[in-house]
Amino acid sequence: MNRTFDLNYKNSTIMSAFINEDEIARILEENQKPDPAKVRAVLNKAKEMKGLDLEDVAVLTNISDPMQLFELFEEANHIKEKIYGKRLVIFAPLYISNLCANECSYCAFRAKNKEIVRRALSQDEIRHEAEILVGQGHKRVLLVAGESYPKQGFQYVLDSVASVYEAKVGNGEIRRVNVNIAPLDLPEFKLLKEAKIGTFQLFQETYHRETYQKVHTGGKKKDYDSRVTALHRAMEAGIDDVGIGVLFGLYNFRFELLAIMQHIRELERVFGVGPHTISVPRLEPATGSDIASHPPFAVSDLDFRKIIAILRLAVPYTGIIMSTRETAHMRRDTFALGVSQISAGSRTNPGGYTDSLHEADGSQFCLGDHRPLDEVIRDVAEMGYIPSFCTGCYRLGRTGQDFMDRAKPGDIKNHCNPNAVSTFMEYLMDYASYETRLIGEDLIDDVINEMEGIARERAIVLLEKVKKGKHDMYC
Ligand code: SAM
Ligand code: SF4
Repeated sequence: MNRTFDLNYKNSTIMSAFINEDEIARILEENQKPDPAKVRAVLNKAKEMKGLDLEDVAVLTNISDPMQLFELFEEANHIKEKIYGKRLVIFAPLYISNLCANECSYCAFRAKNKEIVRRALSQDEIRHEAEILVGQGHKRVLLVAGESYPKQGFQYVLDSVASVYEAKVGNGEIRRVNVNIAPLDLPEFKLLKEAKIGTFQLFQETYHRETYQKVHTGGKKKDYDSRVTALHRAMEAGIDDVGIGVLFGLYNFRFELLAIMQHIRELERVFGVGPHTISVPRLEPATGSDIASHPPFAVSDLDFRKIIAILRLAVPYTGIIMSTRETAHMRRDTFALGVSQISAGSRTNPGGYTDSLHEADGSQFCLGDHRPLDEVIRDVAEMGYIPSFCTGCYRLGRTGQDFMDRAKPGDIKNHCNPNAVSTFMEYLMDYASYETRLIGEDLIDDVINEMEGIARERAIVLLEKVKKGKHDMYC
C-alpha cells in the first residue's frame, strides 16, 4: 500500500493530480484512427483478463468497424461469464430525502428547483419503505439522498441505515445496505463503516474540470478536488468496497473513460485494490433541468454498449451496475456485455414505494424501466441469467482486496453461482408469482445440470436446505 496523500485533504488539489487531462488528450490524439492490427492486439490482450491500460482503452473507444465491434462485444460477454458466470445481482434504490444544498444543473433535487415537492422521510417512513421492498423479495438496498440533511445532520444517515436493517417481514430482511450520498470527511466515513454499510458509491459525474465547474454552480459539490478524492477517504476509513461512476452525456465519453481509468489505477496504487463497482448512468430528463433533456455530449445507444464492453475488458473484476434509467430493451442488451448488477422495480422519489401513484412529484429523474420486480426477474430468468439476491461476500468479509484476490483466479464464481441459485430459490418460494416460479425452477434445474465441481456440490447442498424451508443460505 502506498499512501502518499493528505488525509485531511488540505492538499486535495495536489492529490487530485492523478486526473491528468494533458495525458488523456495526448493518448486520445495518438489513437484517433487505430489500425486493425492494433485493435487486434488490444482484443488479444483483453483475453488474458488482466485488464487494459489507457492506450488500449483509447484504441477501443475508436472502433467503428462492425466486425471489430462484434468481437469487442463477444469478448466482453466471454469475460463476464468466465468471472461471474450467469448471475445478475438484483437491488433496489431507497431514496430517503431529496433535500439538497447543491446546484447540479442536471438534477431535479438541486437547491433552487421549485418544481418538486421536498421531503425527508422519518425513520418510521424509511422502515416502512424498506418493509415494502422486503415484501417484494429484495435483499439489497442502495440508500440515496441529496446533500442536505434534516436537523439531525449526518446522524440522520446513520439512523436511516439502521432503520433499513431493522425492517423485517416474515422471513425476509434487507441484508446489505449500500449508500449513494454526498462525500464525507474521514470521521464520518468511519461512522458509516461502523453502521455496517456495504458499498459507498459516489459518481464524479464528469472528470473534465471545466465542465464540472459549469454544471456545479452552488454548494459543497462545486469543489472538484474534494469530490475526486472522497473515495480515498472512504477507503482510508476502512470502507473496502467503493463504487465509482460517470454521468454520461455531460462531456465526451472517450475522455471520461480514460479519466475513470486514471481514478481506478490511482485507487489501486494507493490501496492495492480498485473500486468494487462502476456505474454508467446516462443523463435522463429531470424536472426543472434543461441540460438533462438536452445532454451536451449525448451518448448514442451504440456508444453506450461500447462503454460497457470496454469497461468489462479494462477492469474485468469490477462489477458493472445498470440502473432503471435505461429501458428494458437496453438493459437486456447490456447483460451480455458485462453488466453484473441491476436495480429493479425502482422509485427515485422519497416515499415512492409507499405512495407509488405519485412518482413524478419528487423524483430525481425519469425512469426507463417501470416494470415491477417480479416481471424483471421473470425476464432475466427467461434470458438464462440467474437473478441473485446474494449478500454472502459482504457477510463473510470477502470485500476489497480479499474479493479481488478470489475474483482474479476465477474462484469467486464458485461462490457466486451457488449463492445465486440458493437466493433465487428463496425468492421463488417466498415471493414469486406462479408463472415466474415455474420459469425460475426450470432455470435452476438447467443451471445445476451445467455446473461442475465444487460449485455444483455447493449449489446442491444450499438448494436442499432452502427447499426444506431454511433461509439465508450462502457459502
Ligand atoms: N447527492 C449525492 C450526489 O450527488 O453524489 C448522491 C445522490 S444523487 C441523487 C445520485 C446520482 O444521481 C448523482 O451522482 C448523479 O450521477 C445522478 N443523477 C442526477 N441527476 C440525474 C439525471 N438527470 N439523470 C441521470 N442521473 C442523474
Ligand atoms: Fe443534490 Fe446530488 Fe442532485 Fe446534485 S446530484 S443536486 S448533489 S442530489
